[in-house]
Amino acid sequence: MNVRLAGAGIGLWTLIREQTVTRPWRLSDAAFAEIDGFAWVQGWVIARHRTRHTYRDPRFDRVVVCCTCEGYGAGDDGQACATCKGDGLLNFCEPPAAGAA
Ligand SMILES: [Zn+2]
Repeated sequence: MNVRLAGAGIGLWTLIREQTVTRPWRLSDAAFAEIDGFAWVQGWVIARHRTRHTYRDPRFDRVVVCCTCEGYGAGDDGQACATCKGDGLLNFCEPPAAGAA
């Protein structure tokens, strides 16, 4: 029996839950603490799982493929796309390129 829990009147199920659920989460939180802190400062979305954490920058939600050039950045004539300035991507939070239709 765990020495920490000895004599505390804690039942078997509580002990099993502590050993199988709470402890791995606690270890995971400790292992990812520094990276989670960095992600939090950057404003990233953190998806926490027991053995892995995934990070996503929500700014990518604003970016879509250019509908004019379909992401190639240039038309059939080889000229840069006027809508996306040759980037192939559009950002919803930026004003459209000057001269774009
Ligand atoms: Zn384009």
